[in-house]
Amino acid sequence: MAVRSSRLRWRAEDSVAQVHRRAPEGSVALTFDDGPHPGSTDRILEVLSELDVRATFFCVGRNARAHPHLVRGIRAEGHAVGSHSLTHPHPRETAPQDLRAEYQQGRGAVAEALGADTPLFRPPHGHLGPVGAVVIRRLGLTTWLWTVDPRDWRPGATVDEIVSVAARAVSGDVVLLHDWVEQAVAPEALDRSATVAALPLIVRAIRERGLRLEALDA
Ligand SMILES: [Zn+2]
Repeated sequence: MAVRSSRLRWRAEDSVAQVHRRAPEGSVALTFDDGPHPGSTDRILEVLSELDVRATFFCVGRNARAHPHLVRGIRAEGHAVGSHSLTHPHPRETAPQDLRAEYQQGRGAVAEALGADTPLFRPPHGHLGPVGAVVIRRLGLTTWLWTVDPRDWRPGATVDEIVSVAARAVSGDVVLLHDWVEQAVAPEALDRSATVAALPLIVRAIRERGLRLEALDA
């Protein structure tokens, strides 16, 4: 069994190395997790369109099923779409076979809403343990974590707090933002207006430093 266990470890480490990637040189990637949701995803799409910015949305499968028109709207605006599990469980608290089903069905639900498959993926909570790493490798998912976390999911996070972290992004950074919040710790976290208001300030600061804002590649 030693052989099997070392093979498992190698695969896990290989997957972990694969996901700790950065956006292309000279660019910053804005990413939006947990949606789509009416009233927040569409507002973010409007602001991104006004700013002429392409971003990446990691959609929760059940939310994609509930709001497929928003998933198609994201793609129609030129953004990249990835999956983010079916129901957003914490990977550490999920049995291996259930984790595989979550990731596979999440991808399927997003693909169904989109009308096309997408291998782009981000694990819930950005958690990638050895089991999750093997699962994503076997499913052939292209996984992106993040390098900058403005913690916009916190209830009561202010525009200033979000901008002060996100606007400092440098070449290759991947910024974590939320167009919805799964398992919100308080209902105020579902008010996405601070993230919406922060976007023009973040984009301006990043562009002033000569950096491009681009969607992530599969
Ligand atoms: Zn999430």
